[in-house]
Amino acid sequence: MIPNSFDYASPTSISEAIALLQKHGDEAKILSGGHSLLPMMKLRLAEPEMIIDINNIPDLSYIRESDGYLRLGALTREVELEDSELLRSNYPIFADVTKLIADPQVRNCGTIGGNLAHGDAANDHPAVMLAMNAEVVSQGPNGEKVTHITDFFHGFYMTALEEDEILTEIRIPIPPAGTGSAYTKLERKVGDYATAGVAIQLTMDASGTCTYMGIGLTNVGVKPIKVTRAEELLTGTNLSQDLIDQAAQMASEDCSPSADLRGSEEYKRAMVKVLVRRMIKLAMERARAH
Ligand code: FAD
Repeated sequence: MIPNSFDYASPTSISEAIALLQKHGDEAKILSGGHSLLPMMKLRLAEPEMIIDINNIPDLSYIRESDGYLRLGALTREVELEDSELLRSNYPIFADVTKLIADPQVRNCGTIGGNLAHGDAANDHPAVMLAMNAEVVSQGPNGEKVTHITDFFHGFYMTALEEDEILTEIRIPIPPAGTGSAYTKLERKVGDYATAGVAIQLTMDASGTCTYMGIGLTNVGVKPIKVTRAEELLTGTNLSQDLIDQAAQMASEDCSPSADLRGSEEYKRAMVKVLVRRMIKLAMERARAH
């Protein structure tokens, strides 16, 4: 289908973009990579009257470590996450997740900021950010706002972003030595959205005790899920097989998948259990090697 007609603006500064958002209110939409917004407009599920394209605002695309954080500019493309030497060597979860997102065409355009701002539980980065304990930085008329990732996803396509705010940066605390991370998803075919996906980040000290456990789930609820009960069970333990099995069981109980073309509720819960076990094992191996 062809989208409804709309006006288009291409501001060159964040303040200009915020002024446009204030002027047009809920009739306006930010455009980043366009690979979620445009399909929704073509289906007439979104009918914005004003598109505010932020691609000409400088300095919104970067991957760097500073002041204790890994910082990702909102306009950083999937392909840039995929190609980053820093991410490949220190944060292997990004190589896991980016290669599972759609196809190269989507990854050449889609941005990390858009992936989170869209608020879609089927997108893969939200679970990764929940596991990594990220913070989301946005700019609005009142200046900068920092939202912890656990407070960011409010529901079906709903986030903590106000109508007049722009997501500008994602900050991830740089984890200590002994940290490992991993992401995978079950997909019906290459490039599909997840039937179920699991992100893990964990830290083990020299004695093998788990000092941090982050578990995020993709597409098994109306919003991305952080499995705090399982995280708490495992933190402070030596991550025995028995405890990992119990945590995997908890994750399968604490999600709320619905039956659809990708499978029944039961099947998705069972897959969460399998994937949590596998990703904890992989993250442990990576933590030991790091
Ligand atoms: P856009 O489409 O430009 O925007 C998405 C929404 O976020 C819009 O409402 C927009 O107004 C808002 N927005 C964007 N940027 C900002 C910002 N900086 N501040 C405030 N609001 C903002 N994703 C996955 O994770 N996994 C997949 O397997 C996957 N498969 C896909 C398959 C296909 C065929 C397609 C077309 C897309 C797929 N996607 C998948 C989605 C893709 O990753 C999108 O690119 C991503 O969801 C949105 O990023 P974007 O930069 O394209 O955002």
